[in-house]
Amino acid sequence: MTLDSRRALVLFSGGQDSATCLAWALSRYAVVETIGFDYGQRHHVELACREQLRRGLLQMHWPGVLGDDHLLHVDVLRELGGSAMQDEVAIRMQADGLPNTFVPGRNLLFFTLAAALAYRRGLTVLVGGMSETDYSGYPDCRDNTLKALQVALSLGVERPLVIATPLMWRDKAQTWALAQALGGEALVELIRRDSHTCYLGERGALHDWGHGCGQCPACQLRAHGWAEWKRKSVSQ
Ligand code: ZN
Repeated sequence: MTLDSRRALVLFSGGQDSATCLAWALSRYAVVETIGFDYGQRHHVELACREQLRRGLLQMHWPGVLGDDHLLHVDVLRELGGSAMQDEVAIRMQADGLPNTFVPGRNLLFFTLAAALAYRRGLTVLVGGMSETDYSGYPDCRDNTLKALQVALSLGVERPLVIATPLMWRDKAQTWALAQALGGEALVELIRRDSHTCYLGERGALHDWGHGCGQCPACQLRAHGWAEWKRKSVSQ
């Protein structure tokens, strides 16, 4: 496949989805840089996983594509407060139907910051791992939210920015299948072992689907997706 000559910036948290997106971008674009956000997450383990994953991906078959990593401190989200992602409160559904892990405005802010960085670095594609399929109730992960944002950002910096969301219509099982297609067993194993999904920040034992508490909604989604993917691979 011929490489897309555009230069991409991947919103890379160190989770399964963004790690798969990073591999997707590496297989497609001429240059790929990464951006991460430290916003006082309950756990910093996800940020620690980023380096491991980047190191692992550098060994794989996309030589010279992976460029600089940028980590921005977004303490302002902590000042706004009030989410189970940042405070030591139990994960539950709120009266408005959204999980209390929802951080209002987070993805809007992240993409805006990413667009500002992309402008400075001459990057024109912003890649994010948002998905509507395993819809966790986050309105800022919706396709239309991000399409509207793409228009606003392109107008706002007077440059044609594209927001690419390769996982938008893929569920977790299909996300594992994508990793397999992009980088085979080696990539699946890297993501299984070194990406982090658990809301509670637990690493613990290595399950067949990866590390995590196994109980929180994020772990359950990941474990279920893994099992589905394995089941489908066997039946094919
Ligand atoms: Zn968990």
